[in-house]
Amino acid sequence: MTHRVFNFNAGPAALPIEVLKQAQAEFLNYQETGMSILETSHRSKAYEAVNREAEATLKELLGLGDNYRVLFLQGGASTQFAMIPMNFLPQGRTADYILTGAWSEKALKEAKLFGNTHIAATTGEDNYKRIPKIGEIQLSENPAYVHITSNNTIFGTQWQDFPSFGQAPLIADMSSDILNKPFDAEKFSLIYAGAQKNLGPSGVTVVIARKELLENNPKDIPTMMRYETHAKNDSLYNTPPAFSVYILNLVLQWLKGQGGLAAIEKRNVEKASLIYNAIDQSGGYYRGHAQKDSRSLMNITFRLPSEELEKTFASQAEKAGLIGLKGHRSVGGLRASIYNAMTVEGCRALEQFMLNFQQKNG
Ligand code: PMP
Repeated sequence: MTHRVFNFNAGPAALPIEVLKQAQAEFLNYQETGMSILETSHRSKAYEAVNREAEATLKELLGLGDNYRVLFLQGGASTQFAMIPMNFLPQGRTADYILTGAWSEKALKEAKLFGNTHIAATTGEDNYKRIPKIGEIQLSENPAYVHITSNNTIFGTQWQDFPSFGQAPLIADMSSDILNKPFDAEKFSLIYAGAQKNLGPSGVTVVIARKELLENNPKDIPTMMRYETHAKNDSLYNTPPAFSVYILNLVLQWLKGQGGLAAIEKRNVEKASLIYNAIDQSGGYYRGHAQKDSRSLMNITFRLPSEELEKTFASQAEKAGLIGLKGHRSVGGLRASIYNAMTVEGCRALEQFMLNFQQKNG
């Protein structure tokens, strides 16, 4: 099959074609080792080079220096929901959570298992159609950390500017928008992201953290749950998801080749504008879920006049080679996930489909 569809799935999601081709070309004989990277020991020079290059490139793209480390872990972003309070929420302290969607709620639920928590702001009563304003955020006294979700995959909202909370360490789940545009990564004590949206395949979770957070973690939590274990062993304490890290590294090299974060932002803005314009110029036929000042560059959520039309839209789009547009089951409607690897051409095709669909059915 040579025909490829435009893949608007929320994750696992589209990967750059250049990356897939490179992986294919070196699949049977990785760099003259006579075997696939899938078959290679994680203690080999070949894999160690991949592991090192991936960490260095991620730091380079984010402009981070020696005071940060990158870890490649397993268990998805969902395991980070628990590892963060396990490591950073001591007895007697409180962790603050800003709720902007279903994933922040899940992160909070795990933290509650380990200690005191405080909801510093929530837009739940607005059906998470917006990011709270700075003035709405009420921190607890001296929080152990403040947790945010930078992009809300299900609701299609995204923080436009990141807040600073003085001494309180800022932690972010960036699963669905990491590396989508330049930002001040030094604001964050820890960033985590499941790779399967903007970074590569599923199976690896990236953790980017200040070095001091990766030392002296509590001794009474399981070895694999301590960040220190993974930092001390360069993410090679146990067998890593080597193939996922290898693809992730190819995606990082691809992103660097595209011109890095400033260049990808330009393209992401162009892509998202095509679809948001189709919504805004539809005279109310398409209705965006997110408030305009909170719109995501990565996940565009919208409704049609009826559920019936939404179903027809998704199935006709699929026939036209535009797949994965059905919204998350918890909110319904439609969702176009247009991560870094989605092309401008794919977004143009969706824009055109939206215009035609409205003409025929509006
Ligand atoms: N956080 C966000 C923002 C997500 O979008 C997702 C997955 N869609 C998760 C966390 C959970 O990630 P994982 O499946 O890697 O545990």
